[in-house]
Amino acid sequence: MGFIVALDGPAGSGKGTVTKEVAKKMNLINIDTGAMYRCVTLLMIRQNIKLDELEKIEKILNKIDIQFKLESEKQKVYLNNEDVSLEIRTQKVNELVSPVSTIKIVRDKLVDLQRKMAESIDVIMEGRDIGTNVFPNANLKIYLDATPEERANRRFKQNEEKGIKIPYAEILENVKYRDYTDSHREIAPLKQAEDAIYIDSTNMTIEEVVEKVVEEIEKVRK
Ligand code: C5P
Repeated sequence: MGFIVALDGPAGSGKGTVTKEVAKKMNLINIDTGAMYRCVTLLMIRQNIKLDELEKIEKILNKIDIQFKLESEKQKVYLNNEDVSLEIRTQKVNELVSPVSTIKIVRDKLVDLQRKMAESIDVIMEGRDIGTNVFPNANLKIYLDATPEERANRRFKQNEEKGIKIPYAEILENVKYRDYTDSHREIAPLKQAEDAIYIDSTNMTIEEVVEKVVEEIEKVRK
Protein backbone atom coordinates (compact mmCIF):
# COMPACT_ATOMS: atom_id res chain seq x y z
CA MET A 1 0.00 0.00 0.00
CA GLY A 2 1.05 3.56 -0.62
CA PHE A 3 0.57 6.51 1.72
CA ILE A 4 -3.14 6.98 2.43
CA VAL A 5 -5.07 10.00 3.65
CA ALA A 6 -8.74 9.23 4.39
CA LEU A 7 -11.02 12.26 4.28
CA ASP A 8 -14.62 11.65 5.31
CA GLY A 9 -17.58 13.88 5.97
CA PRO A 10 -21.18 14.66 5.01
CA ALA A 11 -22.44 16.08 1.70
CA GLY A 12 -21.12 19.56 0.97
CA SER A 13 -18.59 19.66 3.80
CA GLY A 14 -15.96 20.87 1.34
CA LYS A 15 -14.30 17.47 0.95
CA GLY A 16 -14.11 17.71 -2.82
CA THR A 17 -12.46 21.13 -3.01
CA VAL A 18 -10.15 20.49 -0.09
CA THR A 19 -9.08 17.09 -1.42
CA LYS A 20 -8.24 18.56 -4.83
CA GLU A 21 -6.09 21.34 -3.36
CA VAL A 22 -4.33 19.12 -0.86
CA ALA A 23 -3.64 16.54 -3.59
CA LYS A 24 -1.90 19.17 -5.72
CA LYS A 25 0.17 20.55 -2.86
CA MET A 26 1.22 17.22 -1.43
CA ASN A 27 1.58 15.27 -4.66
CA LEU A 28 -1.16 12.76 -3.89
CA ILE A 29 -3.67 11.20 -6.27
CA ASN A 30 -7.17 12.34 -5.44
CA ILE A 31 -9.94 9.73 -5.45
CA ASP A 32 -13.55 10.85 -5.16
CA THR A 33 -15.45 7.77 -3.99
CA GLY A 34 -18.80 9.62 -4.03
CA ALA A 35 -18.39 9.92 -7.80
CA MET A 36 -18.14 6.12 -7.97
CA TYR A 37 -21.48 5.64 -6.15
CA ARG A 38 -22.90 8.29 -8.48
CA CYS A 39 -21.71 6.31 -11.54
CA VAL A 40 -23.56 3.17 -10.43
CA THR A 41 -26.65 5.30 -9.74
CA LEU A 42 -26.48 6.89 -13.20
CA LEU A 43 -26.31 3.49 -14.89
CA MET A 44 -29.31 2.30 -12.89
CA ILE A 45 -31.31 5.38 -13.88
CA ARG A 46 -30.39 5.01 -17.54
CA GLN A 47 -31.28 1.33 -17.61
CA ASN A 48 -34.35 1.84 -15.43
CA ILE A 49 -33.12 -0.63 -12.82
CA LYS A 50 -34.92 -0.59 -9.47
CA LEU A 51 -33.19 -0.81 -6.08
CA ASP A 52 -34.29 -4.40 -5.49
CA GLU A 53 -33.28 -5.77 -8.91
CA LEU A 54 -30.06 -7.25 -7.59
CA GLU A 55 -29.30 -9.49 -10.57
CA LYS A 56 -29.43 -6.56 -12.95
CA ILE A 57 -27.32 -4.48 -10.59
CA GLU A 58 -24.78 -7.27 -10.40
CA LYS A 59 -24.52 -7.32 -14.20
CA ILE A 60 -23.72 -3.61 -14.25
CA LEU A 61 -21.13 -4.06 -11.51
CA ASN A 62 -19.42 -6.91 -13.31
CA LYS A 63 -18.76 -4.71 -16.32
CA ILE A 64 -18.22 -1.34 -14.68
CA ASP A 65 -15.11 0.66 -15.49
CA ILE A 66 -14.57 3.95 -13.62
CA GLN A 67 -11.60 6.17 -14.30
CA PHE A 68 -10.51 9.55 -13.03
CA LYS A 69 -8.59 11.65 -15.56
CA LEU A 70 -7.04 15.05 -15.17
CA GLU A 71 -7.92 17.25 -18.16
CA SER A 72 -6.78 20.90 -18.22
CA GLU A 73 -6.50 20.91 -14.42
CA LYS A 74 -10.02 19.51 -14.02
CA GLN A 75 -10.72 16.05 -12.71
CA LYS A 76 -13.06 14.22 -15.09
CA VAL A 77 -14.98 11.05 -14.32
CA TYR A 78 -15.17 8.42 -17.06
CA LEU A 79 -17.77 5.70 -16.80
CA ASN A 80 -17.26 2.88 -19.28
CA ASN A 81 -15.15 5.29 -21.38
CA GLU A 82 -17.75 8.08 -21.39
CA ASP A 83 -17.23 11.45 -19.69
CA VAL A 84 -20.08 11.63 -17.14
CA SER A 85 -18.57 14.37 -14.94
CA LEU A 86 -21.63 16.61 -15.25
CA GLU A 87 -24.33 13.99 -15.53
CA ILE A 88 -23.46 12.40 -12.18
CA ARG A 89 -24.22 15.74 -10.45
CA THR A 90 -27.84 16.09 -11.55
CA GLN A 91 -30.67 16.29 -9.03
CA LYS A 92 -31.98 12.91 -10.14
CA VAL A 93 -28.67 11.29 -9.19
CA ASN A 94 -28.55 13.32 -5.94
CA GLU A 95 -31.92 11.90 -4.98
CA LEU A 96 -31.08 8.27 -5.73
CA VAL A 97 -27.45 7.92 -4.77
CA SER A 98 -27.95 7.44 -1.01
CA PRO A 99 -30.41 4.54 -1.38
CA VAL A 100 -28.17 2.98 -4.05
CA SER A 101 -25.19 3.16 -1.72
CA THR A 102 -27.02 1.15 0.94
CA ILE A 103 -26.95 -1.91 -1.37
CA LYS A 104 -24.39 -4.45 -0.17
CA ILE A 105 -23.18 -5.71 -3.56
CA VAL A 106 -22.66 -2.12 -4.69
CA ARG A 107 -20.56 -1.28 -1.63
CA ASP A 108 -18.57 -4.52 -1.81
CA LYS A 109 -17.65 -3.91 -5.44
CA LEU A 110 -16.75 -0.23 -5.04
CA VAL A 111 -14.76 -0.77 -1.84
CA ASP A 112 -12.82 -3.48 -3.65
CA LEU A 113 -12.06 -1.08 -6.52
CA GLN A 114 -11.04 1.64 -4.04
CA ARG A 115 -8.60 -0.66 -2.27
CA LYS A 116 -7.08 -1.70 -5.60
CA MET A 117 -6.71 1.93 -6.71
CA ALA A 118 -4.51 2.68 -3.70
CA GLU A 119 -2.32 -0.39 -4.00
CA SER A 120 0.68 1.23 -5.56
CA ILE A 121 0.14 4.99 -5.35
CA ASP A 122 -0.08 7.66 -2.64
CA VAL A 123 -3.68 8.85 -2.35
CA ILE A 124 -6.06 11.18 -0.64
CA MET A 125 -9.42 9.45 -0.79
CA GLU A 126 -12.65 11.24 0.08
CA GLY A 127 -15.96 9.67 1.02
CA ARG A 128 -18.08 8.56 3.95
CA ASP A 129 -16.47 5.32 5.15
CA ILE A 130 -12.85 5.59 4.06
CA GLY A 131 -11.37 5.88 7.56
CA THR A 132 -13.86 3.52 9.21
CA ASN A 133 -14.12 0.80 6.59
CA VAL A 134 -12.10 1.07 3.37
CA PHE A 135 -8.77 1.92 5.02
CA PRO A 136 -9.02 1.46 8.79
CA ASN A 137 -5.20 1.65 8.85
CA ALA A 138 -4.89 4.86 6.80
CA ASN A 139 -1.81 6.95 7.63
CA LEU A 140 -4.04 9.93 8.41
CA LYS A 141 -7.79 10.30 8.90
CA ILE A 142 -9.68 13.57 8.71
CA TYR A 143 -13.39 14.10 9.41
CA LEU A 144 -14.59 17.31 7.81
CA ASP A 145 -17.87 18.80 8.99
CA ALA A 146 -20.00 21.97 8.74
CA THR A 147 -23.61 22.90 9.52
CA PRO A 148 -26.24 21.66 7.00
CA GLU A 149 -27.10 25.28 6.05
CA GLU A 150 -23.49 26.16 5.30
CA ARG A 151 -23.03 22.95 3.33
CA ALA A 152 -26.16 23.60 1.24
CA ASN A 153 -24.92 27.14 0.64
CA ARG A 154 -21.59 25.83 -0.67
CA ARG A 155 -23.25 23.28 -2.95
CA PHE A 156 -25.52 26.03 -4.29
CA LYS A 157 -22.55 28.25 -5.17
CA GLN A 158 -20.60 25.33 -6.63
CA ASN A 159 -23.55 24.41 -8.84
CA GLU A 160 -23.91 28.02 -10.00
CA GLU A 161 -20.28 28.01 -11.11
CA LYS A 162 -20.88 24.81 -13.05
CA GLY A 163 -24.06 26.15 -14.62
CA ILE A 164 -26.27 23.71 -12.71
CA LYS A 165 -29.53 25.35 -11.54
CA ILE A 166 -31.08 23.82 -8.40
CA PRO A 167 -32.92 26.02 -5.83
CA TYR A 168 -31.24 26.44 -2.40
CA ALA A 169 -34.21 25.00 -0.49
CA GLU A 170 -34.08 21.85 -2.60
CA ILE A 171 -30.36 21.46 -1.99
CA LEU A 172 -30.77 21.92 1.77
CA GLU A 173 -33.51 19.33 1.85
CA ASN A 174 -31.34 16.89 -0.12
CA VAL A 175 -28.32 17.53 2.14
CA LYS A 176 -30.39 16.74 5.25
CA TYR A 177 -31.97 13.71 3.65
CA ARG A 178 -28.57 12.32 2.63
CA ASP A 179 -27.10 13.03 6.10
CA TYR A 180 -29.86 10.94 7.59
CA THR A 181 -29.73 8.05 5.09
CA ASP A 182 -25.92 7.94 5.01
CA SER A 183 -25.53 7.89 8.80
CA HIS A 184 -28.37 5.46 9.51
CA ARG A 185 -27.66 2.74 6.95
CA GLU A 186 -26.65 -0.71 8.12
CA ILE A 187 -23.41 -1.16 6.21
CA ALA A 188 -20.52 1.27 6.75
CA PRO A 189 -22.60 4.28 7.83
CA LEU A 190 -21.17 7.79 7.81
CA LYS A 191 -19.44 8.41 11.12
CA GLN A 192 -16.23 9.81 12.43
CA ALA A 193 -13.50 7.20 12.96
CA GLU A 194 -12.26 7.25 16.55
CA ASP A 195 -8.77 8.18 15.47
CA ALA A 196 -9.83 10.82 12.92
CA ILE A 197 -8.99 14.50 13.32
CA TYR A 198 -12.24 16.49 13.46
CA ILE A 199 -12.41 19.76 11.56
CA ASP A 200 -15.49 21.97 11.74
CA SER A 201 -15.20 24.11 8.62
CA THR A 202 -18.39 26.17 9.10
CA ASN A 203 -16.45 29.34 9.84
CA MET A 204 -13.26 28.49 7.99
CA THR A 205 -12.22 29.38 4.45
CA ILE A 206 -11.19 26.63 2.06
CA GLU A 207 -7.60 27.89 2.30
CA GLU A 208 -7.64 27.53 6.08
CA VAL A 209 -8.95 23.98 5.88
CA VAL A 210 -6.38 23.06 3.23
CA GLU A 211 -3.60 24.50 5.40
CA LYS A 212 -4.77 22.51 8.41
CA VAL A 213 -4.91 19.23 6.45
CA VAL A 214 -1.46 19.89 4.91
CA GLU A 215 -0.03 20.50 8.40
CA GLU A 216 -1.47 17.20 9.62
CA ILE A 217 -0.04 15.34 6.61
CA GLU A 218 3.38 16.86 7.20
CA LYS A 219 3.32 15.57 10.78
CA VAL A 220 2.89 11.94 9.71
CA ARG A 221 4.54 11.75 6.28
CA LYS A 222 8.24 11.09 6.49
O1 C5P B 1 -19.52 12.72 -1.90
P1 C5P B 1 -20.85 12.75 -2.63
O2 C5P B 1 -21.82 13.70 -2.02
O3 C5P B 1 -20.69 12.94 -4.09
O4 C5P B 1 -21.41 11.27 -2.43
C1 C5P B 1 -22.64 10.86 -2.97
C2 C5P B 1 -23.28 9.77 -2.14
O5 C5P B 1 -22.51 8.57 -2.27
C3 C5P B 1 -23.35 10.02 -0.64
O6 C5P B 1 -24.50 10.73 -0.26
C4 C5P B 1 -23.37 8.59 -0.08
O7 C5P B 1 -24.68 8.07 -0.09
C5 C5P B 1 -22.55 7.81 -1.08
N1 C5P B 1 -21.19 7.54 -0.62
C6 C5P B 1 -20.99 6.45 0.22
N2 C5P B 1 -19.72 6.11 0.60
C7 C5P B 1 -18.66 6.81 0.18
C8 C5P B 1 -18.84 7.94 -0.65
C9 C5P B 1 -20.14 8.29 -1.03
O8 C5P B 1 -21.95 5.79 0.62
N3 C5P B 1 -17.44 6.44 0.54
